[in-house]
Amino acid sequence: MSTDTQEEDQGGGVSFEDRYGVTPAEADHDTLLRMIEDMFTEGLKTQLEPFPETDREFSKLLDDLRELDVNDLRQKLIISGWKLSPHGEDEMRCQECMYFLVHKRWCDLPELDLPAEPEWWCRLWRI
Ligand code: SF4
Repeated sequence: MSTDTQEEDQGGGVSFEDRYGVTPAEADHDTLLRMIEDMFTEGLKTQLEPFPETDREFSKLLDDLRELDVNDLRQKLIISGWKLSPHGEDEMRCQECMYFLVHKRWCDLPELDLPAEPEWWCRLWRI
């Protein structure tokens, strides 16, 4: 398997392009949402911990995300600890995160740059 194929693999050995007709980098908002939701429906587990408590830990996660291929959506979700529900006792969610664009329903953190729903969360959450 070539590196390119691995980068575009959305899990199960099928590429995003085969399944959705586009790569994540080319996909529109609705298609990206579908890609994300499908991966979770199909059992994707992401790295919810540790939550970055310091700027240094936060920056390290950003560094890890920057190293990814633009189409490696799966790793992006895993590293960021993406979740399709609020998190923790405080029910943290995208809705209150400083990176969430309410009207666009989008995560504006450049290292993520993905559609997000108000009730979702990831461990790069900040207020
Ligand atoms: S950084 Fe995480 S919690 Fe914040 S808007 Fe983006 S996905 Fe949601």
